[in-house]
Amino acid sequence: MFPNNTLAHCACAAGGAAPDLVMIPKFALDKLREVQPFAKQSKAMLFAKEPPHSIVLWVVLIIIGIIYLPQTALGTATLAFCIGALSHVIGDIPTHADPRFADTEPTFCWPLKVKLSQIFGIWDYRIDHGLLWPPKPTEIIIIGISIITIIIIKFL
Ligand SMILES: [Zn+2]
Repeated sequence: MFPNNTLAHCACAAGGAAPDLVMIPKFALDKLREVQPFAKQSKAMLFAKEPPHSIVLWVVLIIIGIIYLPQTALGTATLAFCIGALSHVIGDIPTHADPRFADTEPTFCWPLKVKLSQIFGIWDYRIDHGLLWPPKPTEIIIIGISIITIIIIKFL
């Protein structure tokens, strides 16, 4: 996608990280307070996570972008950003399946009330609220395959 367009690739990667950026201040604050990160979240925090984690929002923005964005470098980068954000949400839906986190989970379908991860969730990479390390066996396999793929693509 977007061959030989480094700006679009960067925008896509930034979009891929963007949905979780609203959680960084909360994570830092919980760490400073020495409490389990994300274990307790205010209604404002829960709402702040909804729009950037909405498959509905990103699909609508991508459709609008395809129709109305100019065929300029900035227009293409904006569309790439939205596609990156959508890929983040698509990746989150099947990987947020642990019922222990259901109360603090975005619906992934905002403004609709359907909790997509309860329908399409198949596993969860989180060990506990805000705790990702050490990775579970499935994640070790995925990380290993990713590293091997990068080595093959880059060096062979
Ligand atoms: Zn996310």
